[in-house]
Order: sequence, then C-alpha cells, then structure tokens
Amino acid sequence: MLNLTGKVVLVTGGSRGIGEATSRTLTAAGAKVIVHYGHSADEAHRIVQDIGREQATALGADLTQAGAGAALFREAVAWQGRVDVLVNNAGIAPSVSVDDPLDEWSITWARTLQVNLMAVADLCREAILHFRTRQGGILINIASRAAFRGDNPDAMHYAASKGAVVALTRSIARGYAHENILSYAVAPGWVRTDMAAAYLREHAAEIARDIPMGDVVPPEEVANTVAFLASGLARHMTGATLDLNGASYT
Ligand code: NAD
Repeated sequence: MLNLTGKVVLVTGGSRGIGEATSRTLTAAGAKVIVHYGHSADEAHRIVQDIGREQATALGADLTQAGAGAALFREAVAWQGRVDVLVNNAGIAPSVSVDDPLDEWSITWARTLQVNLMAVADLCREAILHFRTRQGGILINIASRAAFRGDNPDAMHYAASKGAVVALTRSIARGYAHENILSYAVAPGWVRTDMAAAYLREHAAEIARDIPMGDVVPPEEVANTVAFLASGLARHMTGATLDLNGASYT
C-alpha cells in the first residue's frame, strides 16, 4: 500500500463511482480528502462519515455553472490551508446525435464541454496558482479511452471533451514542470459505474468480445492508478496519460 499520509487531495465528483473509489483508496493510504459532489450531498456526507471527519470533508459545487470550479478549489484550500493534489474526476456523458434538433445538440455540447473541460481547466488554473505558492503540486485528470479511439455517434462531444483534457494535461506538464507542478491523465475504457450501467447492460456480450481481458475496469483499479500518481513516485512521467482498458486500445 502506498503511503499518502500528509497529502491533502481534492477529488471532484468524489462521492460516486470512480470518484468514491478514489476518495476511499486515497484516505485508506493516509491522505486527507475533500469529497466534492455535484448534487448528491447525502452520498458525500455518508462517505465522509465512513472515512471520519478528521480525514475527509464534503463540498458541493455545480460545475455546470461558470466559475464554480475556481470557487470550489479556493474553498477546498480553506479546509486544511492547502491542497497538494487535485483529481479532476467529475464528468458527464449525456447522449445527443446529428439526428437530434440543433438546439438540443448545441445545449448538450455546451453542457458537456463546460463540465468535462471548462470546469477542469478552471480547477487546473486555480491549482497551478496555488501550487506555485507551495513550490509544487500534482494534477490528475480523468480522461477516457474515447479521447483516442473516439466514441459512438451519440457521444462525439464526450470524446472531444476528453481528447481536450489529454491535450490540456500535456500542455500543463510542459508549461509548469520547471515549477515542480506535475500533470497526469488517466484514460479508462468502460468502468462499472452508474454512468456506464445502462450501456453495459444492453451491450454486455459485444463489450466482453471487444476487451481481450474479458471484463470492464473495476473503479478500484482507476483509484489505485490515481493513488500511484498522487504519490509523486513517478515525477518524470509528467504529461503522460495512463490507459486502463484490459488491452482494448483500438
Ligand atoms: P458517475 O456518473 O458515477 O460519476 C460522475 C461524477 O461527476 C459524480 O460524482 C457527479 O456528482 C459528478 N458530476 C456530474 N455532473 C456534475 C456537475 N454538474 N457538477 C458537479 N459534479 C458533477 O461516473 P463515473 O463513471 O464514476 O465517472 C467519473 C469520471 O470517469 C468521469 O469524468 C467520466 O467521464 C470518466 N470515465 C468513466 C468511464 C466509465 O465507463 N464509467 C470511462 C472512462 C472515463
């Protein structure tokens, strides 16, 4: 088990799915975690209660709202006076296709890019400004395999948002490595969470055929990868995107 004692981590969307697994894994390794939630305050408070108030706190922010990401980061810093690691995990994957009306298409694209990209960029910006004052810090962005192989026609906006996150991650690595600010992305294939549940149910056989390992990714494996990156044990890997997909790359 990695030792993350002393690290303060903000996990966006930290109360469900991959985010919940990440909050629990990081605190089990000794970190203190700010469990951010979008709308489900009850879930976040239950997790904080499980972990213990010494080691976790809950903060709500609706990341569809412009400026909410920056405000969230500043509130997170206020809890312990610092944040050492930011995990940008919150994300949405609504469906829309070229066959839908233009206004529906535009609204869905804008909302997806706001939550999956703009809020991530705003959080990264605040983190960089904060990390500068502390001579370093670590950013970990949850992207997706869709960033590289694209997605279904009703999820092109999702793939585009995640591709942008990979480019953002690498740009930050290039721009701020000299200030000891490290930036990584994690790109899972299908992960067994609420976001993917309906699709996984409907396409179980096809998905299993597509994955050489035979099964989708458990959220705990994404969390373990985040814990490794948060440890700072692989500093020179900055800019990298780590794949977790049971060898279903293309
Ligand atoms: P999930 O739906 O279980 O969790 C999404 C999280 O994002 C929730 O905690 C939710 O509160 C938060 N969120 C959503 N909208 C928000 C908003 N407007 N404001 C604030 N928070 C908001 O999904 P998950 O599968 O755990 O997804 C976590 C991340 O992993 C996402 O970025 C997703 O794109 C990515 N991902 C998921 C899969 C998969 O197959 N499940 C695969 C690759 C990448």
